[in-house]
Amino acid sequence: MPKALIIGSGVAGTATALFLAPQGWDCAIFEARAEHASDGGLFLNVATNGLAVLEEVGLRERLMEDAHRCPYMEMYSGRGALLGVVPNGPAGDPDRGSAVVRRAWLNQVLRDAVTVAGIPITLGARLRDIREERETVTAVFADGRTAQGDIVIGADGVGSPTRRWIDDRAPEPAYSGLVSVGGTARVPGLAPTPQTQRMVFGARSFFGYLVRDDGTVLWFANTTEPEQDRESFRRVPAATWLERLRELHADDPSPVSEILAHVDGEIGAYPLYDLLHVPHWQRGRVVAVGDAVHATSPSAGQGASLALEDAFVLARCLREERDHAAAFSQYQSLRQPRAEEVVRYARAVNKQKRVTRSRLGIALRDAMLPMFLRKASSDTRNNHLYRGVVEEVAR
Ligand SMILES: Cc1cc2nc3c(=O)[nH]c(=O)nc-3n(C[C@H](O)[C@H](O)[C@H](O)COP(=O)(O)OP(=O)(O)OC[C@H]3O[C@@H](n4cnc5c(N)ncnc54)[C@H](O)[C@@H]3O)c2cc1C
Repeated sequence: MPKALIIGSGVAGTATALFLAPQGWDCAIFEARAEHASDGGLFLNVATNGLAVLEEVGLRERLMEDAHRCPYMEMYSGRGALLGVVPNGPAGDPDRGSAVVRRAWLNQVLRDAVTVAGIPITLGARLRDIREERETVTAVFADGRTAQGDIVIGADGVGSPTRRWIDDRAPEPAYSGLVSVGGTARVPGLAPTPQTQRMVFGARSFFGYLVRDDGTVLWFANTTEPEQDRESFRRVPAATWLERLRELHADDPSPVSEILAHVDGEIGAYPLYDLLHVPHWQRGRVVAVGDAVHATSPSAGQGASLALEDAFVLARCLREERDHAAAFSQYQSLRQPRAEEVVRYARAVNKQKRVTRSRLGIALRDAMLPMFLRKASSDTRNNHLYRGVVEEVAR
């Protein structure tokens, strides 16, 4: 049985194992962290196309048990005026809209399925090097352990060492100018927001929230922050972020301040980096998937869904093409244009979120956005993003 060493137990790594194992691959996952992360209260969008991939491994219903169906997004100005309602899924087809879930829940659903499939996850295994031999490949971990297999699949996220092993001149992630901070809250009397998520173009920071049927508020803010290294961002205590957000959103319309006053549980913060064009996704017996080769900021709501699609497509290529090098190259050519289109789209959205201090800039944005959003509400040009690879394969 051929052996696949999968580096990283995030969405891309676990999903790849779930598609490969039934095809006769002996999969083993290696994760750098010593324990599975709780991710604070961070949540993410699983788009229509990502849900279709989960359906293929029988996990869609399980995920939806703790999801907020979200076929729409409502956009508000910093003065509380409704600027527009846009589809979060294919325009004109709300039944096939996307879902918002806690990041930790998506990871848990995938991990539980991995456990049921008998695929081992080794924690505390940080990939340090890869050695390729004629017939095999060896992953070398920071503590000196090694593992040998037929292929290595790097699902090791935006800071991917696999990407650098594939090409030591691979681009480094680009900082978007925004940090995403998020968590949960309970605000007495705040009504649920069924089918939708609300976004507020605040005067000094962008804010999003939804209220689940049980009253739990999931909220996030994208604040404009000067660049510093990723480690320094990580060292900022949660309480400092919260204090900063309370100040930045003090003048924004209700219920933004109320939500920030009633935060409960952990707060997660992460700077938004992306990777637009990584020339080489594979070399020899090594290939990379997910954020490792096309990280996108959450503004397109597609990061997890692209990772799920990669897993699906890579497994298809390895099924149809026994030669791994040919399969890897087919995988890259099938995935790269779509992934880059999403990263570009998310960059365009980020421009709207970055805060301009000028009153004129805010007035112009609030005047232009309703027109733009009206067009977006019926614009079917993005529908192909939500149609996704499962439908393409089925056609
Ligand atoms: C902290 C964090 C918060 C996020 N929050 C959001 C959000 O709120 N909204 C949103 O849309 N998207 C968010 N994302 C992005 C989204 O989760 C990803 O786009 C998507 O899940 C695809 O992930 P992936 O599996 O490719 O990478 P990741 O989810 O980053 O998983 C990579 C895994 O590889 C492991 N790893 C890294 N280096 C090594 C190594 N050397 N050896 C072994 N293992 C290694 C990591 O510990 C991690 O578990 C977040 C990402 C991160 C990292």
